[in-house]
This record gives sequence, structure tokens and C-alpha cells, in this order.
Amino acid sequence: MKRPDPALQHFASDNYAGICPEALAALLAANDGHVRSYGDDEWTLRAADRLRELFETDCDVYFVFNGTAANSLALAALCQSYHSVICQQLAHVETDECGAPEFFSNGAKLLAVAGEQGKLTPAAIVDVVTRRRDIHYPRPKVVTLTQATEVGTVYQPDELRAIADTAHELGLRVHMDGARFANAVAGLGLSPADVSWRAGVDVLCFGGTKMGLPVGEAVVFFDRRLSEDFAYRCKQAGQLASKMRFLSAPWLGILENGAWLRHAAHANAMARRLAAGLAEGTGWPALFPVQANGVFVRLPIRIEEGLRARGWLFYNFIGAGGVRLMCGWDTAPETVDRLLDDIRDLSAPPA
Ligand SMILES: *Cc1c(COP(=O)(O)O)cnc(C)c1O
Repeated sequence: MKRPDPALQHFASDNYAGICPEALAALLAANDGHVRSYGDDEWTLRAADRLRELFETDCDVYFVFNGTAANSLALAALCQSYHSVICQQLAHVETDECGAPEFFSNGAKLLAVAGEQGKLTPAAIVDVVTRRRDIHYPRPKVVTLTQATEVGTVYQPDELRAIADTAHELGLRVHMDGARFANAVAGLGLSPADVSWRAGVDVLCFGGTKMGLPVGEAVVFFDRRLSEDFAYRCKQAGQLASKMRFLSAPWLGILENGAWLRHAAHANAMARRLAAGLAEGTGWPALFPVQANGVFVRLPIRIEEGLRARGWLFYNFIGAGGVRLMCGWDTAPETVDRLLDDIRDLSAPPA
């Protein structure tokens, strides 16, 4: 397969990247013959088994088309319409899902709270749960965490454990938005189990798209009591793929040989290369510790505009200001260096 062309790469999002070779090979391999539909096929059964092996537990697994659906349907499964879901104020469920969690839960309310470095804390959760306990307030029932966070930081297992213990003591469930779970696992160098159920997570939305799959996320229920009827919820929401093998086979392709973790580690390494280059060669260091595959930096507007004029695509980060630079499984070191060269060039005083 031909190598990704660095000249065509950008830092807008990890979902700008194409399909990684391992996922693409598995997708093509799955395109043979007729198989059962709606998930009752060998590819899907094997992918779910591989996930159970990866997590070292008998979890219940569902493949859906995207992260918004995964998060919204998982949250809806954890609460009733009169409940509320505690999230960090920069959380994707709050800022980027167009009200889907509220919609699919028939009205459960998101309670967004502030927190350093994109994180929730046990104290913030206690505060939300205890400041109102009356009948007029939607009762908190779920805590949702994003791992890696929206600002490219990563919860340590002890931070997760403290949050989950607090949540469970208060009768709340713990959901994890793992759109970049692979990057978090690679960054921590721990087992997927240690960063999820062993730290108290009840349901994980394990992101596939940003990891290099063509499409799709896995909803992983560690507490099987919570997934009762989840299949119906997926079907009703239009998230049950009839040709499910094409959602699930790419998972097999990246799980069977550890490619998922290698690609995530590479993306993280590219983010560190970018952050190191910024810290050394420019006056604009990263705004947050670079613990996954994203770098956030506040650049003078003239440099930002200069980069865009040179053809670079990237987003401004509404939540924390500055620009967000994401690295993907295929981000080449040359691409990082080319961006750094352009930033340095644009920073130089006019001759
Ligand atoms: C990308 C992303 C998602 C998934 O978004 P979709 O576009 O719906 O697939 C979920 N959570 C976070 C934190 C993300 O960055």
C-alpha cells in the first residue's frame, strides 16, 4: 500500500486521516461472499471476542457508526429522562453533540462543571450532587469523563479511581468517552483494563474512527446489567448496521496485531515532537501538558493567518482559546517539521 503523502496532511483533526492499512486490509478481506446481517456474522463475533480479550473481562460490546451515537445511547442507557449527567464543561457531549445525549435520553440534563486541564474531580462531583437534592432539580445519575480529554491531557488511573469511587458512593454510574482512548492507553503505558473497568468505569465508548478505522466506535459495557435492551436502543436510533461486518472487521484488523496501540503511540509521539519544537524554537509553548495526540497553543493572529494562507488546515479551540493541532496515526515527522518551519518563518521579524 502506498505511504501517506506528508504534503497532503493537516492538523485539523485526527479524523482527517484516512484508513490505516491494517483496517483497510481487514475491510477488504470481509468483502467475500454472503454472510449473516445485523451483527450475526463471524467478523462481528470475533471482533467482540478480541475486545473481551483486550479488556480481560466478559464485557458486552456493540458497534455503532460514530461517537455522538455511542456517547448518547450509552448515556441514555444509564439514566432516566428526569436524571442528570455530570460532565466537564469542555466535554464533547456538552459542546459538540448538538444535544444528542439529551435527545436520546428523552431529556436528561447535562450538568457542565469547570475543571483544570479538561478534567473532572471528585470534589466537583460532590459539589454538584450535594448543592441541590430537592425534587425540582434533575437528579444526578451519571458521571461522564473524556479519556484522553478534549485538551489532550490524560486521567491517571488513581484520578479515575477517585472519581469512580466518589460517583459510585453517591449512586452514580461512570461513563467514559474514549474517542481517543487508544491515545490515552498509549500515553499511560498501562493495560486497557487498568484505564477502564479496573479504575471503576461502567461503560466505555471506545473510539475507532480517530484511531484509523474507516468508521465506527465500540460501546463496551463492563457491567452487563446496564446493556439490557441496548440492542433495541441502537436499532431504534438507526445505529444497527445491516452490513455490520464492515463496521466490525476493521476492528479485528487493528486489534489482532496490536496496530491500534502502535498507531496511537505514533500519533502521541508526533504531538510531542510538535510540542517540543514549539517550546524550543518559538515563543509559544503548549497550553496544556501534551499527554496524548493533541497540542494546544495560542499563536499571534498574524501567525495563525499566515499558516492558513500557506494552506494549513486547523481549528481554533473554542473552549480554551488558541489553536488545536491534532496528530493522527499517519502524521509524518516531515509534516510536523514543515509546520514548525512555517511557524518559525512567520515569527521572524521582517528583514
Ligand atoms: C471525535 C470525538 C467524538 C466522536 O464524534 P463523532 O463525530 O460523533 O464521531 C466523541 N468525543 C470526543 C471527545 C471526540 O473528540
